[in-house]
Order: sequence, then C-alpha cells, then structure tokens
Amino acid sequence: MIVAAGRGERMGLPDKVLLPINGEPAIALSLRAADAARRVEQIVVVAGAHSGKQIADIASGLTLATPIRVVEGGARRQDSVLAGVLAARALGVTSVAVHDGARPLVLAALFDQTLDAAEECGAAIAAVPVVDTVKRVRNGRVLETVPRDELWAAQTPQAFMIDRLLKAFDEAARQELTVTDEASLFEALGWPVAVVPGDAMNLKLTYPGDLPLLEALARSRTRPEPVR
Ligand code: C5P
Repeated sequence: MIVAAGRGERMGLPDKVLLPINGEPAIALSLRAADAARRVEQIVVVAGAHSGKQIADIASGLTLATPIRVVEGGARRQDSVLAGVLAARALGVTSVAVHDGARPLVLAALFDQTLDAAEECGAAIAAVPVVDTVKRVRNGRVLETVPRDELWAAQTPQAFMIDRLLKAFDEAARQELTVTDEASLFEALGWPVAVVPGDAMNLKLTYPGDLPLLEALARSRTRPEPVR
C-alpha cells in the first residue's frame, strides 16, 4: 500500500508525490517497486481528494502486473493508512506493507523483507542506524547529546498483520493517539516490532532541496532489479 494523500506542507508545494524525479512523477517509482516485489499481490494507493484522478491516471499509464486500487485518504497520515488498510482487507489480504509515496527510491526487496518479518513478529519496519551525533535542541541552544548507539531512523515500508493493525487503530482511537508512523501504535500497546535493515538511499522527499539529490541517486542506480 502506498500512502500519498499528504499535502507536502514542508515543501511549500501541494502533492510532493507528483513532483518529477528525472521526468517521472515520484509516485510512479514507488508503484514500480511495489509491483516488482514478489510478495505484493495487490497495490492500494491512498490519494488526496484532489489527486485521486491524477494518481489513478499515472498508475494506469504504468501498465503494472499487480492490480491497483486508488482510495481516498484522510486528514492525518494514520487516517490515510486506516483507509488503505480497510481497502486492503476488503481485497482479502492478511498482511500489508505501508510505504510513503514520498520515498521514491525504495527497492522491491524491502517490501518482501518487511512482509516476511511481519509474518513472524506481527509488525516490521525498515530502519537504518543513526550515524550523526544527535543533540536535543531548544530555542537554538543544545540541551544535551543523545547517546546514539540504540537509535535507528525509521523508514518505510512498515509491514503489519492486518488484524493486529486494525486492533491497534481501535486502541489509538480510544486513547486519541496521533502518531507519525503506524509502528508507534504497536509500541504504545507494548506489541513487538521487528527491524529490517533499510537502505540509505530510501530517502523521503520532504524539502524542495531533496529533489536534485533524489534525482542524482536515482540516476546512480546502475543495476536494474531482477524482475519477479
Ligand atoms: O508528511 P510526511 O512526509 O510525513 O508524509 C509521509 C507520507 O504520508 C507521504 O507519502 C504522504 O503523502 C502520506 N500522508 C498521507 N495522508 C496524510 C498525511 C501524509 O497519505 N494525511
């Protein structure tokens, strides 16, 4: 499942998932990666009310092997994910890999690896160890250095067994939790979340300055992925 219903406020532009990466909308790259993943049987794209038609057109132009459905998202990321998960369940699948449409350089293998790990553990995220020295800062002044040996930066895909994820959403609604990723819901409930090594290139398009970097990284990928 690809979530693409955000407004891209930090970009100062609507719909960062539609911005071109070397001439192709960012979301097209994620769609192709999901399509190439061995374990992905259905693709659900969660789009904004304004972008659904455009995203559906992009998806159909790619002529992918995997069936695609476009559904409408919500105000918060977790609302969009819930809409997508309900659509996925209605399609009869039991597990889901949630991926940010704003991470166009994801590799197909990461969908497969997180789905495999979620089957074992209930939930699994792609993440990379934090390499920078991390400071807690308030009002432009350093408060402290945070030991980084146990710090990992979460990416997507994040994969879940759907029945468990829906229970976590119920609990989040009861406790009025707002989270920046769905693994946080599992953590809040004390449920285990496995970590799969992510990919340093699997960056999230967040600021306008990220575009040329993502384009250069996309061009640097010399070896195409094996087709399933
Ligand atoms: O804003 P952020 O970069 O954290 O968004 C991550 C992903 O979640 C993006 O692909 C964005 O389109 C999606 N999102 C969504 N619905 C929202 C907010 C974000 O699908 N309401």
